[in-house]
Amino acid sequence: MTKKLGIFSVLLLCFACSQSTVKNDLPFFNHNLVSSPESPVSKIKISFVGDILIHSALYKSVVNSKSQNFSQLWQNAIPYFNSADYSYANLEGPTALGISNKLKDMGDIGFVYDGSVYSGEKFLFNFHPRIINDIKDSGIDIISTANNHTFDRGSVGIDRTIDALQVRSLNFVGTRRFDEKNKEGIHGLYKITQVKDFKIGWVACSELLNGFKDKHGQTLLCYEQTDEILQIIQELKQNEKVDIVIVTPHWGIEYKIKQNPQQTAHAHKYLEAGADVVIGSHPHVLQAVEHYKTKDGRNTFIAYSLGNFVSGQLGLHKQASAIVFLEFQKNDKLSWISSYGFQPIFFNLKQRQLEIIHPNGPKDVIQHVESIMSLKKGN
Ligand SMILES: [Zn+2]
Repeated sequence: MTKKLGIFSVLLLCFACSQSTVKNDLPFFNHNLVSSPESPVSKIKISFVGDILIHSALYKSVVNSKSQNFSQLWQNAIPYFNSADYSYANLEGPTALGISNKLKDMGDIGFVYDGSVYSGEKFLFNFHPRIINDIKDSGIDIISTANNHTFDRGSVGIDRTIDALQVRSLNFVGTRRFDEKNKEGIHGLYKITQVKDFKIGWVACSELLNGFKDKHGQTLLCYEQTDEILQIIQELKQNEKVDIVIVTPHWGIEYKIKQNPQQTAHAHKYLEAGADVVIGSHPHVLQAVEHYKTKDGRNTFIAYSLGNFVSGQLGLHKQASAIVFLEFQKNDKLSWISSYGFQPIFFNLKQRQLEIIHPNGPKDVIQHVESIMSLKKGN
């Protein structure tokens, strides 16, 4: 059974009709529609957010709060995750129970911020595994574990993080256990999830590992392992027969609003190999979205960076971001991207809480997010 991603045959910029086109949904601030090439028999909506970065001040505020629940930082986004059939985020750090920044196993020291076992500063992060419960309970269904902080608690930290994810049954993509390389080959480096009757393939990679070496092949490097990534994409499409392949690279230059040529070239390579969607993160700021038509005529989508979802970083470009929504449709022959939408968000550092930005909200945030996230005709 051959399934091809269909086309954005007519690209409608549907700003004026934003509220009325999204039935049974929370209102999007903006919504760009793409038309369907065929009659769909089913559809799903997936939401995406950028980096979850629990910097020290945020971590301490959660430890000292009554609920001690990390989701208090992003509780306003929960209805948006729940409005989608499936939701994705990047978790920027291990959740390695008891592993110190010197890689000593200190055991379960409880839910504390000690700056040694659990830390959110000095480029070495580790979050108490209870954050996984809070992420899952918020309606996030899959996280990427491939980023420049993946090795902040070493190889053992990756295994401990996977332990915590598996105990709590939260899907993840981007890392595998110390001993999986020989057993699994490339198969341990992707995930397939079933969302209603859609089979979705996920691949995650990181450009950098902050100087750590991946001695046991526990993650994928976006540029140095391009061949493996392309092989995985082909494996997913041809052998696993997934409907949609989503690649989530952690890449780009920090604080740069314009993506660099390496990001563009690699996004296009992934899509030409059969991927349908590329959703990036890492620069801490939003970068452009792009509608890319592949040589074989498929219409695909790129968001080069979704910026920070939750972080302790100050500044409009670092605090403003968006929740991205993609709707997919399929019938017995094809699957295709049927619409794209985004909801502007802003992380309020004073309140330590994510805000949903409505059309009458702060103009500077709206203008910034809209100027980057609006899908321009023909790009
Ligand atoms: Zn990063």
